[in-house]
Order: sequence, then C-alpha cells, then structure tokens
Amino acid sequence: MNIVCLDLEGVLVPEIWIGLAERTGIGALRATTRDVPDYDDLMQQRLRILDEHGLGMDHIQAVIDEVRPFPGAREFLHWIRERYQLVILSDTFYEFAHPLMRQLDWPTLFCHRLEVDGERRIINYHLRLADHKRAAVAAFQQLNFRVTAAGDSYNDTGMLAQAEQGLLFAPPQNVIDDFPQFPVTREYDELKNAIEQAFAHS
Ligand SMILES: [Mg+2]
Repeated sequence: MNIVCLDLEGVLVPEIWIGLAERTGIGALRATTRDVPDYDDLMQQRLRILDEHGLGMDHIQAVIDEVRPFPGAREFLHWIRERYQLVILSDTFYEFAHPLMRQLDWPTLFCHRLEVDGERRIINYHLRLADHKRAAVAAFQQLNFRVTAAGDSYNDTGMLAQAEQGLLFAPPQNVIDDFPQFPVTREYDELKNAIEQAFAHS
C-alpha cells in the first residue's frame, strides 16, 4: 500500500503568514524562523502583533479566504487520490488552513491548532506533537504503507529522510545545497513522475 505525504505551504498554497502580511499591510508578520530563530518566540510575536492590530480569528480567516492555492494544486491532489492514499502534513494551524482546504476539496490534514477566547481573539497556539511530520511517516510505515513525501523546506527534511522516497518541490537554493540527497522537482507534472517512479521502484 502506498501513501503520499505532502507539505502544504510552498507546495500546494503560498506561505500563509506572508499572505497575511501582504493583505493586512503588516510587514512584521513576514518574520520567519530565519529572523526569530526560536519558534515559540516567533509565534508569541506573531500573536501579539495580530492582537495589537485588533485582528481576531474571524477577520484573519476572511483574509486567508482570499488566498488561492497554486494553479493546478487541486487537480494535482485529485491525481494523487485516484492512485494512492494522501495525507498533508503541515506546521500551520487548522484554523488558518480551513479556507484553503475548502478550495482543495478537504484533503486529510495533520497540523496544529490555535486557541481563541470568547471574543475570537487568538490567545495561544498548541503544537499537536513536536517533529510530527517525521513521526507521522514512521507511523504509516508501521502500518505497512510505503511512503513518498514531498516538501519545500527545512521543516520537511525529517519526513523526507524517514520516507522510502523524499522529494523536494520548488525549494529555495539553500535547502537544495544543504540536502543534496533529495531529488528536486519544480512542477506538478515533474512531481507526479517522481512519485510514480518512487512507488514503481520502492
Ligand atoms: Mg513548506
């Protein structure tokens, strides 16, 4: 049995925090772990900025509703689901991903969650499990699945290494340089071919 594990942001949809920064005009939301290396510090900063601008969950979801998946992403997922099992493994939050999952016809998504208060202010975040992408791939293998995984960045490399075949999709050059063991794909057709090849040979 074969299962495909895909990253979300940078593979199927644009980076959600960047989309929020562009659509709200709040440049500080563009910060990533490259700017603030500690993830918890970064998330607390992001939540503080949203709160300072009075942006609660409903407003943010309305903004994210304007973000569109990459052209061809929805059809690409249909292609996978006709042939294999599919799970999306992401470090985003269900509440942010929700408007995008609707546009992708509700594929299975494993990610994290945000906590809101009675006024729909976002007051905290909860990681379901640290290093969950790699752990999910290992668990699928325990269930006798062969896994092909694809992602674009550093937070994907654990699952790419754990999978029978790891593939980079549209990665930045620094990721290619640091992880030369993973084949690089840049278009969905190329990724489809690599997935077929992986399952044909694994
Ligand atoms: Mg990504």
